[in-house]
Amino acid sequence: MTVALVTGVTGQDGSYLAERLVAEGCEVHGLVTRGDGRPASLPAEVTLHEGDLRDRDGLAALVRAVGPSEVYNLGGVSSVAQSWEQPVLTGEVSGLGAVALFEASWAAQERTGSPVRVVQASSAEIFGSPVRSPQDESTPVRPVSPYGAAKAYAHQMAAVFRSRGLGVSSCVLYNHESPRRPTTFVTRKITAQVARIAHDGGGTLALGNLAARRDWGWAPEYVDAMVRAARHDVADDFVVATGRTHSVEEFVAAAFAAAGVDDWRDRVEIDPRFVRPVDPALQVGDPARAERVLGWRPTVAFEEIVARMVRHDLELLAV
Ligand code: GDP
Repeated sequence: MTVALVTGVTGQDGSYLAERLVAEGCEVHGLVTRGDGRPASLPAEVTLHEGDLRDRDGLAALVRAVGPSEVYNLGGVSSVAQSWEQPVLTGEVSGLGAVALFEASWAAQERTGSPVRVVQASSAEIFGSPVRSPQDESTPVRPVSPYGAAKAYAHQMAAVFRSRGLGVSSCVLYNHESPRRPTTFVTRKITAQVARIAHDGGGTLALGNLAARRDWGWAPEYVDAMVRAARHDVADDFVVATGRTHSVEEFVAAAFAAAGVDDWRDRVEIDPRFVRPVDPALQVGDPARAERVLGWRPTVAFEEIVARMVRHDLELLAV
């Protein structure tokens, strides 16, 4: 039986991954930070372990005790904004923490002789303000935030451990959304507020840069890419993206359309508090390698992602 260890299991991707693995009959273990509640979306079959990516010995002991054949590192400081407030913590958790997990996995593999497959959830932020678009696996890594720099270190150490004999793939994930996104992300902030406006008839939506463009995909499909990477014979780096971008304004328009609100322009206001001092230029990924090697292809269209999120937020208000 496949035994999987997932860090960051309480997050958006962690919960989809846990559901997927449990449905397949895998034994799933999740690392959680002390004080993390158990999200309602997490299947009861998942065994939770309290711990910390900064605790090297604790991680090694956990990997020894669980004996995973698949390890997914989804844990870490989850937003660029938070990384500016806590750059050292970001480096410790998202950078060194990943390396500690690679090290523990490698040691387990050496000890038992059974391969341990590892997936590092990397990020488009490793490219910073990219020199070319779309970005692929050969695009220079040049982060511009503590978050991006920590992820870049982990990404490069994944390659180092690969050459040491650990089957670790780094999935360079572009923005991926779902109803499980917290409202700190612009997509869910928009769908939650648009649903409220459609439901109550009043209120406004305050946003920052409407012209910002992102390559937005459907989160469960990005989780599928990570599972495919873990199970592919040859570990590698994989850009996981749709290859298409949309602006925040287009997201807003699609959300109001999905909620059935036609006259929405006056409902949107620009609030300078939400405008970022530095916003990466064009982030768009070229998923050709993931398609060719892993047989992975994004299938949920932009409008459908938005519509699913709006529908979910309307349902929450209806109860
Ligand atoms: P990120 O790409 O990981 O930073 O994901 P976000 O969803 O937080 O932001 C995506 C883009 O939306 C960025 O370019 C933001 O500048 C832009 N944006 C515009 N208005 C807002 C807002 O009110 N909140 C957030 N979070 N982002 C906004």
